[in-house]
Order: sequence, then C-alpha cells, then structure tokens
Amino acid sequence: MRILLSNDDGIHAPGLAALHDAVADLGEVITVAPASPQSAASHSITVLAPLTVQAEHVNSPAGGFEGFSVDGSPADCVRLALREMLEPVDLVLSGMNHGANLGVHVLYSGTVAAAAEGAVLGVPAIAFSAGRAGQEVDFATAAGHCRAVLDGLLAGGLHPGELISVNVPDPARGAPKGVAVVRQADSELHEDYQLLSEHDGRRIYELRDYRFADGAGDNDVDLFAAGWVTVTPLNTDLTRHGRLDELRDMDLNCR
Ligand code: MN
Repeated sequence: MRILLSNDDGIHAPGLAALHDAVADLGEVITVAPASPQSAASHSITVLAPLTVQAEHVNSPAGGFEGFSVDGSPADCVRLALREMLEPVDLVLSGMNHGANLGVHVLYSGTVAAAAEGAVLGVPAIAFSAGRAGQEVDFATAAGHCRAVLDGLLAGGLHPGELISVNVPDPARGAPKGVAVVRQADSELHEDYQLLSEHDGRRIYELRDYRFADGAGDNDVDLFAAGWVTVTPLNTDLTRHGRLDELRDMDLNCR
C-alpha cells in the first residue's frame, strides 16, 4: 500500500511524526507537508505564487524519515503530490493535528482540507486530530488509537474519494471510552477576540479562545468532550440535497 501523509501543523510537527511511525509498517509512506504551520488554512490553494518543494529529514521517535516540505497550504501539498510528484497512492492520511477538529471547526481546518484534497482527487482520505489546541497532547499514545481505528476502517473497506475525520481525546486525560461514529455538530461557536491595543484609529485584536457550548448530543463535539474517539464521514459535495426540490418549486427567474 502506498500512503501519502500530510498535515497542517508543518512537516516537523510531532503529531505528524507520531502518525508516520504508527502507520509505517502498512507500506510505503510518502510525506509531503507544509514547510510552516498552516492551521486554519482551510482548503486554500496557492495561485499567485510558485510552490517550492524541499527534501527534508524529519526526526521521529522511531528514528526519523525522509519527506518533502512545500511552502504552501495543506491542500497545495496533497494536490501537488498527487498530481505531479507521486505514483498513484492508495490512501491519504492527514495529521495528527494538534487539537481536535470538531463541529464547524471542520470548515477552518487545514488538517481536514489536506485529506479532503485527496478525496477530491479520488483517493480515500482520513484526517486525524488529537487533544485540544493549546494543551499538551500524548501523541505517541494517540497515534496508537489512530492506528487501531485505521485498521478497522481498512478491514471494513474504504471507498474511492471518501473523506473521514477521526478525533482522539488526549490519552493523558484517560483512556478513550470507545469509538463513536457520529455526525458533525452544528452547535454555535463561541469566539473571544481580545483587544490588544488601540491607538490613532487602529485597533489590534487577537483570537484568544474559541469553544463550543456544552451539550449532550449525538454529535462529534459532545462525544469527544465525553471522552470518546469520534469518527465522522464527511462530504466534499457541499450541496444541501434536501433543499434542491424545494428551490426548484420556487418561482426563480433570471430575467
Ligand atoms: Mn493544525
């Protein structure tokens, strides 16, 4: 099996190294990841500048490996790798991200976007995220949980172009309660911008914290908070299919 590994925290992020080591025995793992941190880059691609690919040695607990950095976004990495650099791959993996990608965060996530780019190009793709952003994460143990979920998905069968997001609570806070296959939450996102300074008509703000309302729903946000590993199949087709017929029944004209 040939696996393309990417992420959004950058090629030297510990979550990527841990995931690489956890899946290395599955086949040939080729790492193509951003040269610099790209969290919240979402599905952006670079169109106004060329992209530089650089061979890199990546240190990892198992002894390190060779990869390539790209001075672009996560989606750039996967697109360039699949279009120009590699023989066909069987699987795209992204992560592990430092911090869960749950609910509407999926829309901002570069980790999910790297996997989504693989799915768009027809390859089954899985995004892995662990712990909470801004808090320490036991990546080595989390990678073992990711591998166990991956083994189950591979045994169950993955479809071409399918996208799955897996979130693992920080194992240092206790062993996961189990695996919950759940929908993406649509709960409101609470954001705090802190005003850092105000001078001469210029205000400088910083995004300090964003979090979800507490709940007990059957969704990724609430089950992750309750200690479950969450597995969520995602669509790259953003169509709200249930509204198609209703809109067709409206009197919509363009003249
Ligand atoms: Mn990230």
